[in-house]
Amino acid sequence: MTKDVPRFWREIPQRYNLVGNACCVCKRVFFPPSESCPDCRRKSMGKMQSLQLKGKGEIVTYTIIHVGPDDFEEQVPYPIAIIQMEEGPRLTAQIVDCAPDTVHIGMKVECVFRKIQEDGSNGAISYGYKFKPMM
Ligand SMILES: [Zn+2]
Repeated sequence: MTKDVPRFWREIPQRYNLVGNACCVCKRVFFPPSESCPDCRRKSMGKMQSLQLKGKGEIVTYTIIHVGPDDFEEQVPYPIAIIQMEEGPRLTAQIVDCAPDTVHIGMKVECVFRKIQEDGSNGAISYGYKFKPMM
């Protein structure tokens, strides 16, 4: 990130914009961003390039959560999946916009930004990434 990017944008957490990074030598992609590539740290001198993920991937494995933490109580059961992104990295996220029993390994999904929880005391709403079936 360059210094002339407004402070506001620099401070947006990764969960809002799926920005990872890639090794300048082997092009391996990391999400969340890695400080250096473990495969070629010496050759690349730790040179990494910021990369915006397209937000598309495929379910590698998943589990259906029947008893969630308090904040998720209204939403159970809900599926949580490990998603292999097109760019390479894997991440874990909730699958939304489909019946839990339709979720399957190999399912194509895409990223959506959704409300995660509402904090009643100060009105703050947290948003984050979730995935929905690709149409
Ligand atoms: Zn590398």
